[in-house]
Amino acid sequence: MNDSRVQLRSAITSLPAYVPGARIPVGASAYKVSSNENPYPPLPSVVAAIVDAAAEINRYPDMGNTEIAEALATFLNETASEKARARGEITSENIVFGTGSVAVLAHILEAVVDQGDEVIFPWRSFEAYPIVVSVAGGTSVPVDLKDTGELDLDAMAAAVTERTKVVLVCTPNNPTGPSVTHSAVMEFLAKVPRDVVVVLDEAYLEFVRMDDALDALAALEAHSNVVVLRTFSKAYGLAGLRVGYAVARPRVAAGIRAAATPFGVNLVAQRAVISSLEARDELFARVDALVAERTRLQEGLRAQGWNIPDSQANFVWLQLGERTISIAAECTARGLLVRPFAGEGIRVSVGEPEATDLFLELAQEWL
Ligand SMILES: *Cc1c(COP(=O)(O)O)cnc(C)c1O
Repeated sequence: MNDSRVQLRSAITSLPAYVPGARIPVGASAYKVSSNENPYPPLPSVVAAIVDAAAEINRYPDMGNTEIAEALATFLNETASEKARARGEITSENIVFGTGSVAVLAHILEAVVDQGDEVIFPWRSFEAYPIVVSVAGGTSVPVDLKDTGELDLDAMAAAVTERTKVVLVCTPNNPTGPSVTHSAVMEFLAKVPRDVVVVLDEAYLEFVRMDDALDALAALEAHSNVVVLRTFSKAYGLAGLRVGYAVARPRVAAGIRAAATPFGVNLVAQRAVISSLEARDELFARVDALVAERTRLQEGLRAQGWNIPDSQANFVWLQLGERTISIAAECTARGLLVRPFAGEGIRVSVGEPEATDLFLELAQEWL
């Protein structure tokens, strides 16, 4: 059973593999700081909602995601800045859900990219980008980061051509960590043609603590080509349930929705989203604790003499070049699973305080 004459598209056979973060082997004990997950177990109230939902899984979920869209719209309006609300409130018309924001991103591309159209993204950045672009039939246009690990928005604006359909802005950037400022994004948007979609991928939004932080909903208010991309996987701790969403102008949102898998977001995930939005104060207190832990990790590394980018996310980046793979192996041997990018560096998620202690102890030895 190992051959077939079926012709796969060349875009599929030449895809780079998505390398998932290392998993803890059964029976072993280690800290998993390889996938930017939330180290806290789910809240009891969220688990209770999930258990209740399990009794109803003989039924299809609400295909229109009506209830979660309304709950999310209410939450976004409550927390939106005045600038973001200048021309009215967000409604469920503006929101599209999917099975993780990676799936939503794929649907955005399917909705606007024709064969050979160009999609610009920073690089090194989220490794799913070149994959979803190829699957959609697009051509990847990676634009180098600055030496500081920051996005080079000027170079990205300069890379726009007549074939460009989408620009992906990853902020904070995975795996390096820095965020772009609101002013820089507004300047960038002023240079990009209005028919080019600009996706603001804010998977780590809740961890950002900086001056002039991006107000993506205000950017959407001012520019009809903006699509804001967010997820329940990281700060909300629902990575295993797969829910992400986009916020866009109604016509754009309808286009993305049309490309989405029907009944994609399952019933259990929908209930967990409702219950997580209700428990947001508890969840955001955990995010504050993780941000404090990030500060301890970054300051610890800098005190040792490491030159690291300023991370606004729940991970830090160490540029290690040729030593990357051997250092990652050493981490694994010591019970710490990190994410290596061969020849470049390692990404270490902010996890349990014990994981921070262990990492700082190891990092000291590599200098
Ligand atoms: C983790 C991550 C996502 C979200 O993943 P989902 O679990 O599919 O929602 C999106 N973008 C970036 C940059 C990420 O790091």
